[in-house]
Amino acid sequence: MSSTDPKSLLPDSLAARVSALTIKDGRAMAVVDAAGLGERERSDIERALGDILGQRDDVQETRVVMTAERTQRRIIAVGSGKGGVGKSTLTANLAIGLAKRGHKVGLVDADIYGPSQPVILGNQGEKPVARDKKLVPVESAVGIPVLSMGHLVEPGRALAWRGPMAGNALTQLIDAHWGDVDTLVVDLPPGTGDVQLTMMQRFKPLGAVLVSTPQDLALIDAARAGQLFDQAGVPVIGLVENMAGYACPHCGEISDPFGKGGVETAAARLDLPFLGRIPLDLAIREGSDRGAPPALDTGALGAPFHDIAAKVDAWIGAHN
Ligand code: ADP
Repeated sequence: MSSTDPKSLLPDSLAARVSALTIKDGRAMAVVDAAGLGERERSDIERALGDILGQRDDVQETRVVMTAERTQRRIIAVGSGKGGVGKSTLTANLAIGLAKRGHKVGLVDADIYGPSQPVILGNQGEKPVARDKKLVPVESAVGIPVLSMGHLVEPGRALAWRGPMAGNALTQLIDAHWGDVDTLVVDLPPGTGDVQLTMMQRFKPLGAVLVSTPQDLALIDAARAGQLFDQAGVPVIGLVENMAGYACPHCGEISDPFGKGGVETAAARLDLPFLGRIPLDLAIREGSDRGAPPALDTGALGAPFHDIAAKVDAWIGAHN
């Protein structure tokens, strides 16, 4: 251990449980291997870390992520730095692409800010039933079962959820009757909040895909989200650039309203794989709004999504 390793600040008994500790921009982030620990031991560790790190001048906030054993059903998380960049759109189409490649896919819509999967997958208004106190996922027209925050709460209400409430809701969605589903694709809320932390603590994903538009601000936030996954030991499978290159429906000229190639450049800088580029296309928005996701299309419209699904599929194959 080098003398600059922040773990050297901790007593040995505590350091042995901490798999990573970083201090940056006033925020300390500790990742604790919580396998086999009870609630009491977990909160003791969390308190001890808060006490020790909180005494430092360079720490204003301490975050502790407890990583559990990985559940058997693999989870692929889809995240973004900010909202409105097409994360839900990619999630639905990635799920369809992975299903086409032979995975038994289920979709969890954990976006408390705007649960939109019931609209995209065309099963809005349908409610899941509970069996033995667990939810039964709702079938969708595209053949992918789905559970959404939108199924648990009226539109707009989940926004007020904090900490335990958001975490418990996520647990209900993931710990459900998924049957023979082997891959859960999870549409996370944007950013790095409570749902993401619960995700990592209770259901460690196999990997995460990050979506961004090409402009700088979205990219900076996406990089921050990537950092959270990385620190929690969840590998970032790669970055996707959405809303790149707009083809004018009148003259066909391609313009780049949000810039071009920014995500690929950022991926190279962050040393992360670049998974592909999805054009800004009215047909993508229209299809998503009427429950006909573009990945159902076997032509040019669906192609960028299937290319990305192929890369994620290959990554899963190499990391199982
Ligand atoms: P997020 O989940 O990041 O908030 P959404 O997937 O809900 O974003 O997308 C926001 C809006 O942009 C939706 O209306 C969606 O249909 C639209 N959209 C997403 N990607 C594209 C695209 N490549 N071309 C056109 N519209 C898109």
